[in-house]
Amino acid sequence: MNNNQWVLARRPPEGFPLSEDFTWLNGQMPEIGPNQMLTRTVYLSLDPYQWGRRRSGTESPGDVCHGRTVAQVVQSNLNGYKEGDFVFNTNGWQEYGLTGEGVSHFGYMFPRQLDPGKAPVSTAIGVMGMLGLTAYSGLVIQCQPRAGETIIVSAASGGVGQVACQLAKIAGSRVVGIAGSSQKLDYLRNEVGVDECVSHLSESFTEELRELCPDGCDVYFENVGGKVFEAVLPLLNEGSRITVCGMISQYGNTDGLDPRQTWDALGESVFSKKNVQVHDLFVGNFVEQYQDEFLSKMAGYMNSGLITYKEDRWEGLESAPEAFAAMLTGGNFGKTIVTVSEDLSRVQ
Ligand code: NDP
Repeated sequence: MNNNQWVLARRPPEGFPLSEDFTWLNGQMPEIGPNQMLTRTVYLSLDPYQWGRRRSGTESPGDVCHGRTVAQVVQSNLNGYKEGDFVFNTNGWQEYGLTGEGVSHFGYMFPRQLDPGKAPVSTAIGVMGMLGLTAYSGLVIQCQPRAGETIIVSAASGGVGQVACQLAKIAGSRVVGIAGSSQKLDYLRNEVGVDECVSHLSESFTEELRELCPDGCDVYFENVGGKVFEAVLPLLNEGSRITVCGMISQYGNTDGLDPRQTWDALGESVFSKKNVQVHDLFVGNFVEQYQDEFLSKMAGYMNSGLITYKEDRWEGLESAPEAFAAMLTGGNFGKTIVTVSEDLSRVQ
């Protein structure tokens, strides 16, 4: 039996992903060993950090592309897991993968058993997974938004952004979302429930953003960097807080500069003059201490309808490179997920 997979074809030279960066292989079905399980990938998560791994050389040509997954157990020699169970794991861009002893799970995200009765299993790679925890850690833990404060969120309709906006609304803050297309702005207004939103594609973006923030900005959730950050910078209030979650507009940079260096250089004088607290965010640092608290709070928010969540689904593993490139350049609408095989949890 084949195990279709995408492997990295080369170390990507510059810019954003191209089809030449990936090779489709009819790989071998992996052989299960002691204390391991074989799982069938159901959903594959596509995330901006995967591009960083490929560009930096963390992933080598010939490697199966890394990716978090939701999968169903086919065969198990691993205590606590049996055939048919659904798990969050790290199969990567392939149809089948091994989990357990001797298999790299890429650090901080261990396999996790999923209960399809509690939440759709796909949410484990989204709102009930790393993305949700990222929004929670950056906004709630680091920036501690208060009622009446103005919170600006960039890439506001995306996987992380839409959750950050809603957590800020739950805190009673006034939320201004920044996104690209008019459909994304409609979604932010009508479903996410932001107070105001603006397109960074508008020629008068900077002026429009300033008008939407007459009392300045108390918290900035940074997902984008570049000109979006430059527009937010003069709006920062005395004692405001920033979480530096990501700078996606800079991920195709070819000048070799760390995006954070130029960002810091621009902000330096403003940060010290206005006593701005800048928090670096890496979700891995929050898993051990906050994952349980986050999962329980988020389950409550989802069940009571306080959090809505949009996925951008692509069908079939073949679509992964195209979906990945689209996500990095604004072509996605919500959390980007590839459906690799049938989700049998929905028919249970
Ligand atoms: P999204 O679903 O938000 O998709 C990316 C979005 O970024 C696009 O849809 C697009 O939205 C926006 N974007 C892309 N290029 C530009 C640009 N040049 N200018 C402005 N906006 C742009 O992705 P995620 O939710 O997965 O990730 C969001 C951010 O969170 C990323 O920066 C990512 O690196 C970061 N992240 C950080 C983590 C951490 O531990 N710190 C963990 C997980 C994610 P639009 O069309 O609206 O412009």
